[in-house]
Amino acid sequence: MEVKSVVDRAVAGEDLDEQEVTFLLGLRGPDLNAAAAAADALRKEQVGDVVTYVVNRNINFTNACILRCKFCAFSRNYRNSEAFMLPIEEVVRQAEEAWNLGATEVCIQAGLAPGMDWRLYPKILEQIKARVPNMHIHAYSPEEIWYGSRLSGMNYSDFLRTLMGAGLDSMPGTSAEILDDSIRKIISPGRLPVNEWVKIIKAAHSLGIPTTATMMYGHVENLAQRAEHLLLLRDIQKETGGFTEFVPLSFVPYRTELNSSGVVKWAPTAFETVAIYVAARLALGWHIKNLQVSWVKEGPRLAQAILAAGANDFGGTLINESISTSAGSSHGQFMNPREIRRLILDAGRVPAQRSTTYKIIKHFTEVEDGNPIPLEGAVYSEEKFGSFNELIADKKFRFSRRSP
Ligand code: SF4
Repeated sequence: MEVKSVVDRAVAGEDLDEQEVTFLLGLRGPDLNAAAAAADALRKEQVGDVVTYVVNRNINFTNACILRCKFCAFSRNYRNSEAFMLPIEEVVRQAEEAWNLGATEVCIQAGLAPGMDWRLYPKILEQIKARVPNMHIHAYSPEEIWYGSRLSGMNYSDFLRTLMGAGLDSMPGTSAEILDDSIRKIISPGRLPVNEWVKIIKAAHSLGIPTTATMMYGHVENLAQRAEHLLLLRDIQKETGGFTEFVPLSFVPYRTELNSSGVVKWAPTAFETVAIYVAARLALGWHIKNLQVSWVKEGPRLAQAILAAGANDFGGTLINESISTSAGSSHGQFMNPREIRRLILDAGRVPAQRSTTYKIIKHFTEVEDGNPIPLEGAVYSEEKFGSFNELIADKKFRFSRRSP
């Protein structure tokens, strides 16, 4: 297979097949450089030079979970002294604080707390909307929808309708990892199978709930399984049009069972990561035009470099990232919009703050904003924002069977 012929087909708008995508994912050296240049040119044609970001806050309201995914360093057994559950008032307080700091979105995901009353899911949404009605609520992974549906006895569509009625605006397309059941059995036994993930995503899209599309790569899967995952996402998008963006997430192995048991020794390399973005732009770009780089997974410098390999979105400020941090990611829990703009401008592109659904809020020509939103002036400190470790240490948030 030749790089040029595969790239030419992608640029002409033809759908690449599994062998071609697998080929792209394995490129290195000058071939990867050539394909990255083509992906960058295709990005320019499809979405222009603007690089977007969203000002958001993550709220992971409990780490107590009935599952033990081997890639997850965040969850705890409910008996563990580190298991926490934020009361709804604390979730609402964090959302309101984020709104007052200039955030437009809260991203809410959590463990599957044992013995949980399913009504907690809509209650959280209702109470946030009651306090901050214009905050966009991006909440609940397909795994949580699966759990909530089972607990409530509702089918996916009815459960999602209940959440919409309570204030759900969009959903993260997480808990996808690699959409291959043989991989899921190894890395996350007991997790929802591929066909249920697909059903939940399609049910959400058919109700008008947009979702992201994700892929967590770099553990036990091979290149062909990555390619199949990308093509499955492409097929869903062709049917529903409900994905807002694709977000590759490189696996952070440190402190996970996959790492301590010797199954996964290393995190993906920089070139492995670049190849993912190149393949994603070339294979998905005509269908899912927004390709997000995760600074929390890749670090700010690699994230910036990936902007030259097909990406057009820098993700969110996060404010309280805790999932990757738990697994040993050292890139922090928050990135100030000023720093995001600096990296985008230095890449020769145009920064723009967006909404969750990619409406442009404001373009920028400089790192500094003449009229700073409050978040710009907020110096990150654990005292100000709280932190995952503080939550664990704070006994008042300790999980108990009565918490939910
Ligand atoms: S990934 Fe989610 S479902 Fe799996 S153990 Fe962690 S919190 Fe629980």
